[in-house]
Amino acid sequence: MDAQSPNSFEPNKYVSLEKLVSLCKRRGFIFQSAEIYGGVNGLYDSGPLGTLMKQHIRKLWGQALQQLEQEVVLLDGSLIGPEAMWKASGHISNFHDPMVDCLVCKHRFRADDIDLTRPCTHCGNKQWTEVRNFNLMFTTQVGANTGQSTTAYLRPETAQAIFVNFKNVFSTARVKIPFGIAQQGKAFRNEITPKQFLFRMREFEQMELEWFCKPTESAYFYDFWRKKRMDFMYHIGITPERLRMREHSPDELSHYSRGTSDIEYHFVFGWKELEGIAHRGDFDLTQHMQHSGKDLKVYDEEAKESYTPHVVECSVGLDRLFLTLLFDAYYEDEVEGETRTVLRLHPAVAPITAAILPLTKKQHDKAHILYKKLKFAHYSVEYDLSGSIGKRYRRQDEIGTPFCITFDFDSETDDSVTIRHRDSMKQERIKIDDIQKTIDAALSVSFS
Ligand code: ATP
Repeated sequence: MDAQSPNSFEPNKYVSLEKLVSLCKRRGFIFQSAEIYGGVNGLYDSGPLGTLMKQHIRKLWGQALQQLEQEVVLLDGSLIGPEAMWKASGHISNFHDPMVDCLVCKHRFRADDIDLTRPCTHCGNKQWTEVRNFNLMFTTQVGANTGQSTTAYLRPETAQAIFVNFKNVFSTARVKIPFGIAQQGKAFRNEITPKQFLFRMREFEQMELEWFCKPTESAYFYDFWRKKRMDFMYHIGITPERLRMREHSPDELSHYSRGTSDIEYHFVFGWKELEGIAHRGDFDLTQHMQHSGKDLKVYDEEAKESYTPHVVECSVGLDRLFLTLLFDAYYEDEVEGETRTVLRLHPAVAPITAAILPLTKKQHDKAHILYKKLKFAHYSVEYDLSGSIGKRYRRQDEIGTPFCITFDFDSETDDSVTIRHRDSMKQERIKIDDIQKTIDAALSVSFS
């Protein structure tokens, strides 16, 4: 599919944000943080199913980077960074959003989110403050002694730890340019108006790749990563027609960027950025060289000279991708006069891969042996003995479990079970010994 094309695609008609939020809470995907104390805007906790699903997404992201010719190595940087680092990166002077307040109701808005020629959507008056810049970084103090502590910041992106460690990694990891440093971890932004559930949060997780290459090859790798990252989205099962690549116009580009493209998804609230791919040139390494006085150049054996590598960055929010996958997978089918809610998640993404369902207590022993076998072999499985089989199927459909494995009266003697496929609802009889093979085939994803 041409990644540039579809603009007119309808969003998933079955799901509203409210429905998704309610499903996430009802089934234990996502909870509001500190809900019993009233919660905090923009902060969320992952429940048991959300945590499993996020683990699966992280794993797939890592797998995609390992299935490359070139090396990608990992880093796990600290969450707090010194002021000097954020000065060098440009975050202290540039990492802000325009903010405006309603003078009457005191409601605060992101100025680029609203039309200032119109009344306040909260109270209906039209009296605005001046538009000011609001820095999105959370400040903290490091050190216990009052007066001797220093100001530091919670990282608003994971990338800077990669840049400042570039030389450490290059000299210890036995890598050659081009290569990548990848990192998954929390980032913090004091967003003016967190909204749309997990779309804009104040604490979220990023999965970032910084790709270091020769300046002469950076244009090639910018294109290479645009394609690779879009393919990733297809491979993990996102509907291609709801994805597009949008290249930033020159006046939209960040100060450091020589080219940026967003992979956008068509949410119910419109086309929105899911992942950013940016050609950052030598901006970051040069800034850190200038501010730290340390040499971050590499030596080119062939040209017999040192140079500053160029960087292509691929940055996606884990929570935003998680939200996208849920939006994309949510369907409501009419089955025998009833509505069946089903998450058509890729099996490798689904929080639970298989549910083991004995028809009655009589099949418990045998069914539980299979459950333990799969669980100990690190499959994500659930065991459910209570309620009618129809209700148990519906529950698994709603959390996106691709396989329901039912032990019935015949299973006691024929070593076979019924396997029910989530999307088609088709049931087939299969030998217990063949289950792992069936699951493995569904779980395998090739990114090459
Ligand atoms: P936006 O324009 O949506 O604010 P951005 O351009 O500031 O995003 P980047 O700094 O490029 O975002 O961050 C990379 C990725 O991190 C984004 O594509 C998104 O997936 C994720 N991300 C950024 N901010 C948030 C947030 N507040 N909540 C959740 N995910 C976020």
